[in-house]
Formats: sequence, structure tokens, C-alpha cells
Amino acid sequence: MGKSDWLGLPGLQVVPSPNFNERPTGLAIDSLVIHCISLPERATSAAAPLALFQNRLDYTAHPEFTQLAGLKVSSHFVIDRQGQVHQCVPCNKRAWHAGQSAAMGRSNFNDFSIGIELVGDVYTPFSCPQMAALYPLIKQLKASYPLKFAFAHSEIAPTRKTDPGPFFEWHLIRKPNTYRLL
Ligand SMILES: [Zn+2]
Repeated sequence: MGKSDWLGLPGLQVVPSPNFNERPTGLAIDSLVIHCISLPERATSAAAPLALFQNRLDYTAHPEFTQLAGLKVSSHFVIDRQGQVHQCVPCNKRAWHAGQSAAMGRSNFNDFSIGIELVGDVYTPFSCPQMAALYPLIKQLKASYPLKFAFAHSEIAPTRKTDPGPFFEWHLIRKPNTYRLL
């Protein structure tokens, strides 16, 4: 693996997912997509989301998990409630987090974005340690990729998705009323 495949962030924990493929050539990785995930809904542990991304979730463990059987999804990063950053897919590969998506005249955001999942739900504020972990992650990513924009999953898939929800503090990472990163 090359230098840029896994991010050299101090304390980063690699939890590899098999759910990725090649990005199209010639596309700059210029966007972040911010998500939240909780399994089951409102759970605060990263264990089930990470297991889902590794295709190792026990789909019989909870009624909400049944519908996830066979789903092949991933994200580049998962930040848990304690602020631990997990990387599941190398940044130069295409993770499967955005699904059908469009904004600013572009579609298929998986092609040119890096996905960041915050463990949490749309009803609860994100934790201080996890927000504190997000800034150095974005800073390090900006040092490696020409990142210009950040989108909510709900902004690129508004008919399907509501995450990361009303508690994500966009003013901390974006210029007001734009998709542009600070
Ligand atoms: Zn999402």
C-alpha cells in the first residue's frame, strides 16, 4: 500500500472493510460527506456499524438488523462517541457510503468524496470528543487531498436520507450558507 492509502493520523485505528472499489480516474477527491450511524437506532457503540462495514454484523441480533442482511456498505472513517477515529477504507479507494446522490450539478458522490460517519443519531447532539476528533481528521485530509466542500448525506440524497441531522454544527467546518469548507 502506498503512503496515501491509509491516513497517518496519530491514534487512528484501522478496521478494514472489503466494501470498496476503484475510483474513476481523473476525478479530484474534493468533497467530504458527513453521516451519522447508530445500530440499532440510538445505540452509542461503534461495534455494530464497524461490523456492518466488515460484513460481519450478526443480522439476527436485533430486529432492526434483519433488513441489513446482504447490504454491502462502508465509509472511509467512523468516529465513535469517545472520539476514536477508525478507518475502514483507504482514502484513494471508493467507499460505498453515499449511494444515489447529487448536488451542485454532480452525481455519484462516492466517486469523488471521502465518507465520515459519526456514531450517533439525528435526535441527539454529537459528543464533544467526537467533534474534537473531527477537526484534526479534516485537517489531515486537507493536507493530502484537494478538499473544497463538505455535504450532509441528506443534502446529496434528500429523498432518502436525513443524516447527520440537525445537531451537526456546520458552522464549525463550513463557510456560512455554502458547501465550502472553512
Ligand atoms: Zn449517511
